[in-house]
Amino acid sequence: MRTLLRTPILALSVMLAFTACSTAQQPASTATPFGTLSAVTTDLGDGLYTVSAGGYRTVFLVGDNGVLVGDPISTPIAKQFLSEIRKVTSKPLLYVVYSHNHWDHVLGGQVFKDEGAEIWSHEACLPHFYRNSHPDLVLPDRSYEQKQVLDVGNAKAELLYHGPNHSDCSTHLYFPAQKIVHIVDTVQPYAVSGAGGRMNDSYPKQFVASLQKLEDEVPFERMVPGHGGPIAPRDAVTNRREYQQGLLDAVKAEIDKGTPFGEIPGAVSLPQFKDLLGYDQYLAANAQRILIYYTIGW
Ligand SMILES: [Zn+2]
Repeated sequence: MRTLLRTPILALSVMLAFTACSTAQQPASTATPFGTLSAVTTDLGDGLYTVSAGGYRTVFLVGDNGVLVGDPISTPIAKQFLSEIRKVTSKPLLYVVYSHNHWDHVLGGQVFKDEGAEIWSHEACLPHFYRNSHPDLVLPDRSYEQKQVLDVGNAKAELLYHGPNHSDCSTHLYFPAQKIVHIVDTVQPYAVSGAGGRMNDSYPKQFVASLQKLEDEVPFERMVPGHGGPIAPRDAVTNRREYQQGLLDAVKAEIDKGTPFGEIPGAVSLPQFKDLLGYDQYLAANAQRILIYYTIGW
């Protein structure tokens, strides 16, 4: 499964540069900092598909009545995703589900709205969208609090909220017939926290509780991430939760030992996770983020 993970952990600067590409005309393929990448669709069975372009990934579910799709990513990528959907079905787009509030996943929704789709997000995303608007961001039409089932005709998706993790409004998009959950950014399979380790643990302690709740309450067998390869086993979620708890424990142990704060990020070592993608590059930055949590409570 790890051989599928060819996409590097994205640095924030790369993400911003990538977003800046979003005003381009619809291309045959999308130019990104990783090169020019065409959309690739993978059939996951029973009407569920995942499609990726430019290092980003979403899902779409085709039912008797129409289509539900996940993040649009950006205007040019949404156009690519739409043309991939149209290779599978001509049915109407019924729903878009934003995974969380970060611009690098939720811009370009107008492409799907023009096809008639209703846009959903978790309700806690709304204040983020109001505070930080963007010309390519379409506000959700509907929001939910804990759980929302969307039916596209003999095919269902469950929008599930398990508390703060990578963001405070992340939706775990579950497809019960396929036993597959789509998790964006909170779990990048068998990788440490990306974006330089500064952002992905936005709620470092609740992160663990959120994944535990997902594991306890949802009988998923596989997950589709928001970057990288199309599918990963359930164990990828457990691994990510255990890495997060390991980080929390290791940083706390250094604080309790009296290690000077400035030396803590470099002192933390988690050898049981040394094979994770980005371990050598981002472990210290991940530890720094946890140190901030323990020192100021954020
Ligand atoms: Zn994010």
